Amino acid sequence: MAKLTVSDLDLEGKKVLMRVDFNVPIKDGVIGNDNRIVAALPTIKYVIEHGGKAILLSHLGRIKKEEDKPALSMRPVAERLSNLLNKPVTFVPTTEGKQLEDAIDGLSNGDVLVMENTRYEDVKNGENVKRESGNDPELGKYWASLGDVFVNDAFGTAHRSHASNVGIASNMAQTAAGFLMEKEITFIGGAVDNPEHPFVAILGGAKVSDKIGVIDNLLAKADKILIGGGMTYTFYAAKGMKIGNSLVEKDKIDLAKEILDKAGDKLVLPSDSVVAEKFDNDAAHKTVDGDIPDGYMALDIGPKSVAEFEDVLKSAKTVVWNGPMGVFEMSNYAEGTLEIGKFLGTLTEAKTIVGGGDSTAAVQQLGVADKLSHISTGGGASLEYLEGKTLPGIAAISDK
Ligand code: ADP
Ligand code: MG
Repeated sequence: MAKLTVSDLDLEGKKVLMRVDFNVPIKDGVIGNDNRIVAALPTIKYVIEHGGKAILLSHLGRIKKEEDKPALSMRPVAERLSNLLNKPVTFVPTTEGKQLEDAIDGLSNGDVLVMENTRYEDVKNGENVKRESGNDPELGKYWASLGDVFVNDAFGTAHRSHASNVGIASNMAQTAAGFLMEKEITFIGGAVDNPEHPFVAILGGAKVSDKIGVIDNLLAKADKILIGGGMTYTFYAAKGMKIGNSLVEKDKIDLAKEILDKAGDKLVLPSDSVVAEKFDNDAAHKTVDGDIPDGYMALDIGPKSVAEFEDVLKSAKTVVWNGPMGVFEMSNYAEGTLEIGKFLGTLTEAKTIVGGGDSTAAVQQLGVADKLSHISTGGGASLEYLEGKTLPGIAAISDK
C-alpha cells in the first residue's frame, strides 16, 4: 500500500512536527560529520518553502544518566542547520513545557525550530525512565499535541517503536513520510515486496548468524543469492570443504547445510578466495581455488568469483547488496568488494540497492556509492526491512 508523503500534505500555516535523523557523531560539542543534517535538508526546505512551521525532533546518541546530557545537546546541531539553511533556527533547550510551547506559538510560516534531544526524556530526575525509547504513551501524545501534522523522515529508527516516531504518529490524524523515508520505502520496500526480475541478492559480511533472517526472506524472493564475506566459510564447512583458519560459526554449520539443501542452485558460493597467513593487511597472501589451505584464513573473494558473480549480475533488474565481500577495511582484501561495487555501477538498467551499516561504509569508502540507485541511511533498519519484517516506524505512516 502506498504511503502518504510530505508532498501530499497541505503545509501552509501548519505546525509541522518533523522527526529527522540528526544523530551525528559529536565530540566536545564539535560535529564530526554533518552528512545526516545535509541529507535532511530537502524535506525541511520543502516544508518551509510551502509555508509550514518546521518543528524538528531527533535523538542524538544514548542517554542513560543525567551526566550524559550536556555532551549530547542538540544545540550544535541547530547551529549547523542554521548555517546550512542560511537562516535563523530557534533552538529550545528542553523537550517539554511552557518554554517549548511558547516558542512554537511564536513561529511564523517558514520558520524552523529544533527542540532538545528527544532522549533527554529517557532520564528524568536521575532516573532511567526511558520515556522516549520505551514509547511512553503520554509523551507521544504530548509531542503530537504540539503540531498539526507529522512528517517522519528518520528511517534509521524505523525499526524501533519510540515516542518520537510511533508515539507521535499514533496520536496524529496524518503522518507522512519525508523524502528520505520515501526513498527507503520505494527502493528497499519495493525490492522486498515487488521486485523486478531477475532479482539478485548479494549477501556478505561477517557472520551467517547475523544474516539468517535476510537469507531466509530473500531465498523466497530472489532468483539468485550470491554469498561472499566471512559467512562463506561456514557454508564451505557445511559442504565438507577445508576452511583453514577462516571465520566459522561451528554452531551454524547444520543450519548452513539446511539452507544449502533448500536453496539448491539458487545460492552461489565463491569459487576462489584471497587467503592470508594472518588477519593483517601486510600478511603473506595469495589466491586459491576452493578449499582453504591449512595455516591460512580467507579474507576476500577471488577474481574468478568476481567474474562469476558479474556473469549472474549482468542481466539483473533488481540487485540488493548487504554485507561486504571481504575485509574491505584492509586494502589488500578490499578488491572483491570494490570490483562488485564498480560492476553494479555499470548496471544502468537495474535498481541497485545497498543496505547495512558496514556495506554503506564500504561503498562510500571505495567511492562507488554515487553510481548506485540507493544507499540506505539505516543499518539496523535496512537489515530488518530486508528480513521482511514490518518496521513499526513505517507501519505508523498513514496510507495514501
Ligand atoms: P553490514 O553491517 O553491512 O550488515 P556486516 O556487519 O555483516 O555488514 O559485516 C561487515 C564486516 O564483515 C566487515 O567488518 C568485514 O571486515 C567483515 N568481513 C567480511 N569478510 C570477512 C572475512 N572473510 N573474514 C572476516 N571478516 C570479514
Ligand atoms: Mg555491521
